[in-house]
Amino acid sequence: MFDALTDRLSGVFDRLSGRGVLSDKDIDEALREVRVALLEADVALPVVREFIAKAKEQATGEAVIRSVRPADQVVKITYDGLVDMLGGEGEPEGLNLSMNPPTVILMAGLQGSGKTTTAGKLALRLGKERKRVLLASLDTRRPAAMEQLATLAKQAGVDSLPIVQGQSAPDIARRALSSAKLQGFDVVILDTAGRTTLDEQMMTEAAEIARIANPSETLLVADSLTGQDAVRTAKAFHERLPLTGLVLTRADGDGRGGAALSMRAVTGLPIKFLGVSEKLEGLDAFDARRVAGRILG
Ligand code: GDP
Repeated sequence: MFDALTDRLSGVFDRLSGRGVLSDKDIDEALREVRVALLEADVALPVVREFIAKAKEQATGEAVIRSVRPADQVVKITYDGLVDMLGGEGEPEGLNLSMNPPTVILMAGLQGSGKTTTAGKLALRLGKERKRVLLASLDTRRPAAMEQLATLAKQAGVDSLPIVQGQSAPDIARRALSSAKLQGFDVVILDTAGRTTLDEQMMTEAAEIARIANPSETLLVADSLTGQDAVRTAKAFHERLPLTGLVLTRADGDGRGGAALSMRAVTGLPIKFLGVSEKLEGLDAFDARRVAGRILG
């Protein structure tokens, strides 16, 4: 496993072999290779630094400095550290469903991140769990986004809130909540309006909707291929909204997953799902081991 990093580290340790117990400097040299591997996987620099500092503490322990195969030990420390930082090996955190239905799930994120598609994917998943789901688009600026959500609802076999022209986003949220209560829906998914860049008005509107709707889940959807930008986005949204989790889309792309580690480290929020295709079925529960493996390449 992780042949690329193991090879690099073997290279370092081979040069050092024959000198007996490894020194601090030797470990530093090995960790420099780990650092390069993480940066190549697009992990943000401050997160890499924090990671390397922790790894160093562990790597200077007896197991590595006296090991016959120190490269394997450093790879193990790195892998275990990544899994830990990504949320650990346990079962991924699923959705928090309210004891008093309807559960409200608020979707936030930039335009193009895959927010609306993810709303449809969650609806399909919950529908399969026999929940009655109502999807509602609050994107009053983009009628096409409202139509898109209605189409996705049909494909997922769930209901969508009828579109009423001229209503404000908070009013649509209120209408969605009262419809859901009256009609006995289990879950309401509110798809907020996105913008192509971080935008004050978008944040204010999303924060107001969060106040009105009191969601059990406020999920930030981010494109894992946008690397450092995804981290900035997560930070900005986390400051303004009561986020409860992250969904990273386009995990089926070429990215090495570094954004997942950075976003988790910067916000402390659990990554709940990964988007793995354009299709409605393309939503996987987050698996820290899988992502750690991918970061190591
Ligand atoms: P929104 O503007 O954030 O609501 O973004 P959309 O949901 O409209 O998604 C933008 C594009 O990304 C669409 O073409 C989606 O099919 C695509 N998309 C969304 N999630 C994924 C994913 O996980 N993988 C891939 N490959 N494409 C995705």
